[in-house]
Amino acid sequence: MANLILKNLYKIYPDNVTAVKDLSLEIKDKEFLVLVGPSGCGKTTTLRMIAGLEEISSGEIYIEDRLVNDVAPKERDIAMVFQNYALYPHLTVYDNIAFGLKLRKIPKDEIKKNVQEVARILALEDLLDRKPKELSGGQKQRVALGRAMVRKPKVFLMDEPLSNLDAQLRTQMRIEIAKLHKNLETTFVYVTHDQTEAMTMGTRIVVMKDGLIQQIDNPQRIYDRPVNRFVAGFIGSPKMNFLEALIIEQNGRIFAKVADSLLLVSIARGQELKDKGYLGKEVILGIRAEHLYGKGDLLARHPECILSGRLEFTELRGSETYQYVKIAEIEVVVRVDSELQVETGQKVKVGFNMSKIHFFDKE
Ligand code: ADP
Ligand code: MG
Repeated sequence: MANLILKNLYKIYPDNVTAVKDLSLEIKDKEFLVLVGPSGCGKTTTLRMIAGLEEISSGEIYIEDRLVNDVAPKERDIAMVFQNYALYPHLTVYDNIAFGLKLRKIPKDEIKKNVQEVARILALEDLLDRKPKELSGGQKQRVALGRAMVRKPKVFLMDEPLSNLDAQLRTQMRIEIAKLHKNLETTFVYVTHDQTEAMTMGTRIVVMKDGLIQQIDNPQRIYDRPVNRFVAGFIGSPKMNFLEALIIEQNGRIFAKVADSLLLVSIARGQELKDKGYLGKEVILGIRAEHLYGKGDLLARHPECILSGRLEFTELRGSETYQYVKIAEIEVVVRVDSELQVETGQKVKVGFNMSKIHFFDKE
């Protein structure tokens, strides 16, 4: 159990690759914090600096209010779980889990007790005599978790621990790790490039891009109130729709003009746009698939919040149906009721829930 403070962290690799830029973050005791972002944004580097496996170029790391910059990895009381499991192939599951404790010269019966407890929690009791090659991917991952858990670390660091598993197992392990976090009541810092994992597992999410923190918030707020276009596009599936729009005022009302059509902006949002200085400017209008609709009566009720397009493709996902509609050369994805059946190539109307739109600077 521990809180963790990262202060103005920088990592500059040889050849002047700045992998992490001025990263400051407070991770609370018992929190499940997820670092998420595309490949190469500095997630692994950040984790390795916390673990002490990577030297810090500048900045400070505190674990439980103790500056650990010069503290060796094994004295940081941290356990790291890697993507490739890093199990010893010649050792049994039991010995893999016990390895760290044996190194610490812990008495044999105590080791046994701890390994058995961990094996029980992770449902590995029947597998203790097996070698890694006799295990499935999910079982190997549980052994890797077991090896981290048995040391009772103050902080767990996990670097894409599920990325080698197939989709179904990944979903299952996601839940298992979240449960484990609940049971252990320990601080977790979890790294992934997968926004679904971040959204479902994290109590807080840190979105990174190019070594910089973009946004820190709980999953719902990241989803509802992304601070910029990058976060908006990265979080959520299907991806948020983006359309170029010109903000104009006509007869005292504010409209977003997309191609040659107008969308009426609510008074409150219109004022917000004015305050931001967007009037008369080109912006990026963002809207999620679930905030677009294709239904007749809703369309009739909000005639000033509609754009026309052509249906390109319908995707059935079982629980949901998505229409891909081309509006002004841009394809947008619309979540529709499954009974709404339209032939590909037909003209369709797309309704906008204008209270759910986002506006971003056009770069
Ligand atoms: P992520 O885990 O988010 O994919 P990394 O932390 O692995 O990102 O890498 C961040 C950046 O640092 C990338 O541009 C990567 O190429 C670079 N990088 C990572 N490790 C090294 C290294 N040992 N030497 C030089 N550059 C590195
Ligand atoms: Mg990585």
